[in-house]
Amino acid sequence: MIDLSKTDLNSCNIQYIKGVGEKRAQLFNKLGIYSVRDLISFYPRKYQDWSKNVSVLDAPEGEAVAIKATMITPVKESLIRKGMTLYKCNFSDGQNVIHVTLFNNKYLAKSLRTFDDYILYGKVEKSFTSASMTSPQIEKLDTADGIHPIYSATDKLNSRAIAKVVKTALDNIDYIEDTLSEDIIKRYKLCSLDFATREIHFPSKQENIEIARRRLIFEELLTLQLGLLKLKDKKEVKNDLVIKADLTDEFCSLLPFELTGAQKRAISECLADMKNGKAMNRLIQGDVGSGKTAVAAAVMYSTVKSGYQCAMMAPTEILATQHFESLSKLFDGTDFNIALLTGSTKAKEKREIKAALMDGEIDIIIGTHALIQNDVEFSELALVITDEQHRFGVEQRANLAMKGKNPHLMVMSATPIPRTLGLIIYGDLDISILDELPPGRQEIRTDVVTSAYHERIYSFIKKAVDAGNQAYIVCSLVDEGESDLISAKEYAEELQTKVFSQYNLGLLHGKMKAKEKDGVMSAFSRGDIQILVSTTVVEVGVDVPNATIMLIENADRFGLSALHQLRGRVGRGKDKSYCILVSDNDSETSQERLHVMKSTSNGFRIAEYDLKTRGPGDFFGKRQHGLPNLIIADMLGDMDTLKECQQCAKEMLRDDIRLDKYPLLCQNINDMFRKTDY
Ligand code: ADP
Ligand code: MG
Repeated sequence: MIDLSKTDLNSCNIQYIKGVGEKRAQLFNKLGIYSVRDLISFYPRKYQDWSKNVSVLDAPEGEAVAIKATMITPVKESLIRKGMTLYKCNFSDGQNVIHVTLFNNKYLAKSLRTFDDYILYGKVEKSFTSASMTSPQIEKLDTADGIHPIYSATDKLNSRAIAKVVKTALDNIDYIEDTLSEDIIKRYKLCSLDFATREIHFPSKQENIEIARRRLIFEELLTLQLGLLKLKDKKEVKNDLVIKADLTDEFCSLLPFELTGAQKRAISECLADMKNGKAMNRLIQGDVGSGKTAVAAAVMYSTVKSGYQCAMMAPTEILATQHFESLSKLFDGTDFNIALLTGSTKAKEKREIKAALMDGEIDIIIGTHALIQNDVEFSELALVITDEQHRFGVEQRANLAMKGKNPHLMVMSATPIPRTLGLIIYGDLDISILDELPPGRQEIRTDVVTSAYHERIYSFIKKAVDAGNQAYIVCSLVDEGESDLISAKEYAEELQTKVFSQYNLGLLHGKMKAKEKDGVMSAFSRGDIQILVSTTVVEVGVDVPNATIMLIENADRFGLSALHQLRGRVGRGKDKSYCILVSDNDSETSQERLHVMKSTSNGFRIAEYDLKTRGPGDFFGKRQHGLPNLIIADMLGDMDTLKECQQCAKEMLRDDIRLDKYPLLCQNINDMFRKTDY
């Protein structure tokens, strides 16, 4: 074992910790833990408090508790069948007896001694005459200490084993050097990093968990803020791609509709940015259907008329193709040359497009990631637009910005985020919000029902499909575990054979390759697939106006914002559309949440409700923000801390733009932005 107090924790491999070694290190790697720093930043998911014990009589049923008890009968062993041994014994808390059953746990069973005192930790089941515990954790009273950390574990690496290694590591580090100055620590009333790290893993008392959490959250959000502000600073670059005139009025004559006030505002904010000699960095945020594409088109119009090129990127081929088609139609009456470049563009055509881009013959290019490949060069690229930006990471954005001479950047997102929060997580961008929907949208009828209604729903879908419409069935959840996938496949097969045998069903799931997904989506878009069963959130932004029914199974398992996005897939055409939320969860909170969906179609309002009641974890989805994954910080719950950090970050950068005084923090910033796999 090397002396951890003298090594760099960020670069020291965990395999050098006593008891780890190469093999186990791999198990830790699976959890994203490579360095000692990673290990001590792998915080517990929750805690078990073994210090507060209750009597058998007071133990609530179905809730894990600690009970101090004496073993009163020796262990009885019985072999139930091959490979299954049962161990039974009785304990007493001084008043009542508790029957304990262990399965196959020979090691624990053999270690128990009659008349010794123990702490039993687990759930108590009670009947009229007795109380029992099945497979509780058991420790001797004198070694069972206070609050136990529980880590997210894997099959081969349990929480206890993780705790042991963390403990060994911490015991071998004299003092964890602080990343912040004394002054900041005092000003923001924080504890030291050393204290926080030790107490978050092995709290000496309950109150310390909060104190430690505050410091670690502060640390993380500050790192994030500093990283973003530095990024913004880097991006505040001069560019001489100046838009000569705002030609939005001229552009409007191409549109079959009037722009909304919000659209006009966003367009003029963009064009103002593009006139001042600096590169634009703007987020256009608008609810589903708020008309972001028209904003993009208007800005492109003035840009092309000033003699420049524009590039627009979408996260999938199908979205790129959709944009290509609608923009080609819109600019039909102009002399603009528009092209589409995706992964499936034929090699010869690709070559031609690339040559035309370099010559400046193409004015607007629309595409997927293929657009940011190194060999795509432009003659005079002035504007880069990315649609559904949360799919693109900060890094990819930066990559695009490097094309040409620091082009203006515009990103469009449909994730509704309350403004304050948006300002913080998109710290490197300016924001325009489209808070107005185009007039005349018809309401989507939303219903919340139980699974008892399935028969009726199925015949409703059949009727709609017979009338020429299409339907989505979303049957899984945010998290795509293996078993969910299987259940989705099974469900789709069952629907195809038993319910919708006369119809064409398609299946879309998260484990499919991008190409396969696009294939299924295109088939749905063309109408070859009538009913699309999906485990994953149906491609955000996809526009199949003919689809009129969105059926969501186990709707209570989704965040409301996710439901809102899903619902936004229908109601895009002339036909009346429906969103059916199926849930058998009759708890009051769950029913109330689902009824919020019924009561409003305003994405911002829904997002706010979601944030208030469930916290931002769901709200942002796993990677929705396109920012590094925050290990501990809980964006909205920690709104106040977030604001403090923003303040603190600004002050720090004002005094010391390169953060020379904070080398450790700089290292962490780089780590945070590098590690993220977008
Ligand atoms: P999103 O913001 O979700 O990307 P889109 O740009 O796809 O929305 O627009 C949704 C639909 O609304 C499109 O069919 C578009 O033509 C239409 N639309 C956009 N702006 C207006 C407007 N001002 N008035 C009427 N319809 C509009
Ligand atoms: Mg869109």
